[in-house]
Amino acid sequence: MIKVCKFGGTSMADAKAILQVKSIIEADKDRKYIVVSAPGKRDKNDIKITDTLYKCYEDVKETGSCSERFALIKERFKGIVEDLKLDLDIDAILDKTEKEIISECSADFTASRGEYLSAIVMANLLGATFVDAAELIRFDSKGRLNDEYTDDIVRNRLDDVEYAVIPGFYGCDYKGKIKTFSRGGSDITGSIIARGTKADLYENWTDVSGFLVCDPRIVKNPQVIKQLTYKELRELSYMGASVLHAEAIFPVMKRCIPINIKNTFKPEDAGTMIVPSEKYTDSDSIITGIAGKKDFTVIFMEKSLMNSEVGFIRKVLSVVEHYGVCVEHVPSGVDTLSIVIESEQLKDGVLTEIVNGIRENVNPDFIHVIENISLIATVGHGMARRSGTAAKIFKALADKGINIKMIDQGSSELNIIVGVQNSDYENCIRAIYEAFILE
Ligand code: ADP
Ligand code: ASP
Ligand code: MG
Repeated sequence: MIKVCKFGGTSMADAKAILQVKSIIEADKDRKYIVVSAPGKRDKNDIKITDTLYKCYEDVKETGSCSERFALIKERFKGIVEDLKLDLDIDAILDKTEKEIISECSADFTASRGEYLSAIVMANLLGATFVDAAELIRFDSKGRLNDEYTDDIVRNRLDDVEYAVIPGFYGCDYKGKIKTFSRGGSDITGSIIARGTKADLYENWTDVSGFLVCDPRIVKNPQVIKQLTYKELRELSYMGASVLHAEAIFPVMKRCIPINIKNTFKPEDAGTMIVPSEKYTDSDSIITGIAGKKDFTVIFMEKSLMNSEVGFIRKVLSVVEHYGVCVEHVPSGVDTLSIVIESEQLKDGVLTEIVNGIRENVNPDFIHVIENISLIATVGHGMARRSGTAAKIFKALADKGINIKMIDQGSSELNIIVGVQNSDYENCIRAIYEAFILE
């Protein structure tokens, strides 16, 4: 049996947490491949190593040096090595790293050093082999993960390594330069290693006891989701449930490897099991989770007999496409159409140009822009089995005086999305939680 374990930033934050990680790994001999994040926050006011490293890069870019800021990195790692009483020449490693950060002068290289150093420390502590992610993970010329190639290298390289620690978050581009995933990307590394080693289980160790029904920063002590399917996970993490990176699902999906989200600080808790499909669950709940994202813009238009105008939607979307903007949702009615777009993409006059372009292209009777919209997704396979879920959501929101600006029910019957004002975001999530979970 092979288990791949990924430990997040809080689990690697200081010597005490790292010793807890060690005891978890050593409690189960199947935990053979360990992926680690850079040390995260030790408390609410602390700064993540990765954030400091990005600032080091800014310093190098501006001044050619980062010694003052890199001193923070040195202090943190030296403290960890000292507290763990490791036989490791961390001073030499840190000095070399600082020089490389200056000579490479690359944001990705600099940011990746948090995971690199973290993995060196962990490998030393465990007496395991350090295998650099730069050897294992490849990106193509477009910056996308070269997944089949990566899978081959991981399999070949780790085939005869019994026990290894691998830094998360980065790999190499096609020219051999270090490239990172987006933030939180160590979850993807763990998934890649699980696929490549044909693991039986991918354990993702974090600071909460599993995937919670909704964000614990919005609802106090939300319930833990016991089982979640790949599809539900994809919907929830795409919609902002940040416990697992939204792309972490893809590598394990290829081999149907389950993911277990576990709490480093409460290892006895069962956590959440993420399974390939409904076939593997025994859940009878209507909804599985709620997640949301802020800051969308809705462009709403109305035109009589829109539905009989050939090519209407295509013409509207071609205007949006012309500006290289991605569309999130396109809910439509008999004579109405809305396009929902992340507001970030509509800055610097793009919104006005798109609206003018739509006016010219399809001549709507009415066009109207609604800004500062949050999208909240209520997700669960259970919805398809029971009627009245949408009605229950709408009633819960109406009872709290929350005005729904947009509704979209995914064609998969797995997801109902509502759009509300940003100012109603938290209350909307709380209202849905109360209606379904606390009923
Ligand atoms: P790690 O550093 O271990 O990767 P993250 O900070 O990336 O951990 O993810 C865990 C955090 O995700 C939790 O501490 C919690 O604040 C947040 N979070 C947001 N939504 C959820 C959710 N639905 N379930 C659990 N945690 C969530
Ligand atoms: N350290 C990186 C970050 O803070 C990657 C990770 O933790 O997954 O985003
Ligand atoms: Mg994370």
